[in-house]
Amino acid sequence: MDYSRVLNVMWDEGKARGAFVFKKNDILTTPFRWIVFVALSARSRDENTYKVCKELFRVADTPEKVVALGDSTLGKLLYSIGFYREKTKRVMGLSRMLISKFGGEVPGTREELMELPGVGRKTANIILNKVFGKHTLAVDVHVHRISNRLGWVKTKTPEKSEHALLELLPKNLVRKANKAMVGYGQTVCLPRNPKCKTCKVKEYCKRIGLLKLD
Ligand code: SF4
Repeated sequence: MDYSRVLNVMWDEGKARGAFVFKKNDILTTPFRWIVFVALSARSRDENTYKVCKELFRVADTPEKVVALGDSTLGKLLYSIGFYREKTKRVMGLSRMLISKFGGEVPGTREELMELPGVGRKTANIILNKVFGKHTLAVDVHVHRISNRLGWVKTKTPEKSEHALLELLPKNLVRKANKAMVGYGQTVCLPRNPKCKTCKVKEYCKRIGLLKLD
């Protein structure tokens, strides 16, 4: 399998079709902004998370400033995001711990990141990948779904997909694979009704779990 070719096509297609993951962002400029964005993005559309973060970062973009806001003001700023109560606690909790345990800085190892409230393996992988340039795979629903449909892995959970893909892909393709699959999942290989007929990698895809094309 020519993984590089498939990922390049996915990358170009996702970009050409305006996938959110390729949009230029002017707000994720520090490790703290990244970790807040990822903490808020669970079960929320990236576009909405982006909007809410933009408002939040206007008034608070460091752990100290977030803590100074207090729960009530932070909650009001996050109100329009899904599960805002839970996320308010998460952002406040991780800001407090960053101050008390890490001198206000976002730590650079998976173990330390996963000590932060609400930070699981996926969030840690995103931060390691985006902020620290590590070859981690942040397997979200898109990456898990597409790699199974393609037949590259046969796994039941994102974490198992992460391990399987890390074994399968050459190291130099890991970071590219993440963004390419997310962009493709946002625009072509959708969760429901994937656009298989016009898909430019269909000749490489086993379409596992999908009905036959007409
Ligand atoms: S052929 Fe269909 S299932 Fe396979 S990658 Fe393309 S859109 Fe996804």
